[in-house]
Amino acid sequence: MVTSFMKIDIITIFPKMFKGPFTESLLGRASKKGILKINIVDIRFFSKDKHKKVDDKPFGGGGGMIMKSEPLYDAIKSVGLKEKNNSYKKFHAKAYIIYMSPQGKTLNNKIVKRLTRFKHLAIVCGHYEGIDERIMNYIDEEISVGDYVLTGGEIPAMVLVDSVARMLPGVIKEEDSIKNDSFYNNLLDYPHYTRPAVFRGHKVPEILLSGDHKKISEWRKKEAYKRTMERRPDLLRTD
Ligand code: SAM
Repeated sequence: MVTSFMKIDIITIFPKMFKGPFTESLLGRASKKGILKINIVDIRFFSKDKHKKVDDKPFGGGGGMIMKSEPLYDAIKSVGLKEKNNSYKKFHAKAYIIYMSPQGKTLNNKIVKRLTRFKHLAIVCGHYEGIDERIMNYIDEEISVGDYVLTGGEIPAMVLVDSVARMLPGVIKEEDSIKNDSFYNNLLDYPHYTRPAVFRGHKVPEILLSGDHKKISEWRKKEAYKRTMERRPDLLRTD
């Protein structure tokens, strides 16, 4: 079942990056309405180094830096782990912990829908060459935003939060419109038009001006199917 309230902790070394995207627009409104609570956790806060270092050279040599395990572990623990007897195993996770990673499953609508069932997510944003592999013991799932490499996990985390949050009840005013959005039912969305009815000689399809809602709905279904066939036939495959 889709949760009606979600808390998301974002674990990052660049907390300031989240200011604009999470205070404006729909996400800002969702936070104000109390549907979504976003908490930014600064990994540097957990660094015991006097310079607040969170990275180190890789064992075995080679270029690039690696995000150190201790401050990251402590940051994750502060939001998502409860440990018993100093064991290195995860006990009674408070949050479902996601690591944004180009090596994870590629984000799609199915994953987004699944994540809307959680009341508490924690998202780890990597940097440099990535995180110390031993942190994977505390990660529930790795998610990628596509087959390319970005400099950090912050933008992928924003993509994930936006896609999940807009599915929560009350975030989008016209909730039914989500069901017509691309991918919701394995179809792309139908084309949309607004005034004027003629724009630089290009006319709006006549049917949309007819006022016949049944016919309009049939036209939209047909257009969505046609578009999907043309652009993304893979979505229609059932195997
Ligand atoms: N060396 C890593 C590799 O090749 O798999 C890439 C590290 S990348 C420069 C630094 C961080 O950016 C990653 O730890 C991850 O958190 C984030 N990142 C980069 N590309 C991403 C993607 N496509 N999806 C999700 N996160 C990504």
